[in-house]
Amino acid sequence: MNETDIKFLEDSFKKYYFNHFNLISTPQRTSEREFGYQKFNSGFFNRHISLRDDKELHLLFMQNIPSDVYCSNAYYAFPNSPMNEKDWKEADLIFDIDAKDLNLSCRNNHTASICNECNEISKDIVKCVKCNSTKLEKKSLPCKFCINASKIEVNKLSNVLIDDLGINKENIHVYFSGNEGFHVYVYNSQFQKMGSKERSELVDYIMFRGAIPETFGMKRFKPNRSSFPDFNQKGWNGRFSKQVFGSKSKRSKIISELLDNGYSSFQKTLDNVSDQIGVKIDPNVTMDIHRIFRLPGSINSKSGLTKTLCTDLTKFDPYTDACFLNDESIEVLANCPIEFKLKNKKFGPYNNEKISLPTYAAVYLICKKLATIA
Ligand SMILES: [Zn+2]
Ligand SMILES: [Zn+2]
Repeated sequence: MNETDIKFLEDSFKKYYFNHFNLISTPQRTSEREFGYQKFNSGFFNRHISLRDDKELHLLFMQNIPSDVYCSNAYYAFPNSPMNEKDWKEADLIFDIDAKDLNLSCRNNHTASICNECNEISKDIVKCVKCNSTKLEKKSLPCKFCINASKIEVNKLSNVLIDDLGINKENIHVYFSGNEGFHVYVYNSQFQKMGSKERSELVDYIMFRGAIPETFGMKRFKPNRSSFPDFNQKGWNGRFSKQVFGSKSKRSKIISELLDNGYSSFQKTLDNVSDQIGVKIDPNVTMDIHRIFRLPGSINSKSGLTKTLCTDLTKFDPYTDACFLNDESIEVLANCPIEFKLKNKKFGPYNNEKISLPTYAAVYLICKKLATIA
C-alpha cells in the first residue's frame, strides 16, 4: 500500500477512534488481559501489552493509530511477561464462524483476484486474464447470503450451548468480526478453566465430529430397533432424528432401511449428517487458550468495518450497523469488478476509473486493495 493510502486510512481510523471511543468495550478485568496491535504496512506484531483502564487503551489508539487491535480471551497474573511467564489463570470460551469456511456457492461471484505478477484485477480467480499467472491474491466482498449463512451457524451454536451445555443465554455475546463472519464469546461458564485438550473435545461435540453408530442405536450384531433415537430427545439424538427421519410418520420405515443397510452404511449416514447439522466453527480458534482476538469496537483493517456487538442478530446488517466511518467525499482510482452495498447505497463495479466516494466506501475498497487515492 502506498504512503498516501496509508495516511488516508490512518486519518479515517483516528477520527473514528477519537469520536466513537464509547463503542469500544473494554473487557472485564482489563488489567489481567494481554493486548496487542499492528500498524499499517508493518509486519511487526506488538504483543504482551498490559493496560489498566479505558484511559490507557484510548492512549494506545491515539498514539499508535493501529490498523488492528487485539485482546486475549485469557486472564493472566502477568499479561505483559513473555508467554511462558504470564501465569495463565483462565480464558473465556470463544468461537469463530467465518463465511469463507462454509463452502458457499455464491463466493466465486463476489471474489476479485489481484495478480501478483502484473497487478491486473479481474473476476477470474483461476488465472490472470492478462498474463496467465496463477499467483493471485483473492479479495472477497461477502454478500447478504454469506452473512445469513453465517448467522444460521451462530444460531445452531447458541442452541447447542444453551440446550446441551447449560450455558446461560445472557453469558453468550455475538460479535460481527468486521469482515466475513462472527465471533461468539461465552463468559463465566463452567469451561473457563478448561485447557486446550478439553476444549478440543468440546469442539468435537459442537461440530458433531467422531460420533459412533452405537451412540445412535446401531450395533454390529443384533441391533435393536427400539434403541434408535427419537424426536423429543435432548442433544444430538433429537437433532439426528429430525435430520434422518424427517417426520415422525417416517421414523419406523427409515429405521428398517437403516437396519437393512447395516453397520458400515450407518457410519456413512452419520458422517453425512455430521456435515449437515454439525456447527461449522473454526476448531483451532476455540482450542487456542493463548490467542488474542480483535477487540470489540475496533476497526478491522481488512474492510474498514467495526467489530460490533449484535444485540439482535436477525436484524443485524453489517453493511449498515458496522459501518461507522464518515461520508466526507474523496477522489479515488477504483478498480473493482464487483458491485457492493454500504449504508444502503450501491457502489461499483468500477473499471479503473476516477470517482468520488464517501470515506467509508473509499476505505472499504482501499482495505481490499481495489482502489487507491487518486
Ligand atoms: Zn497478471
Ligand atoms: Zn456470498
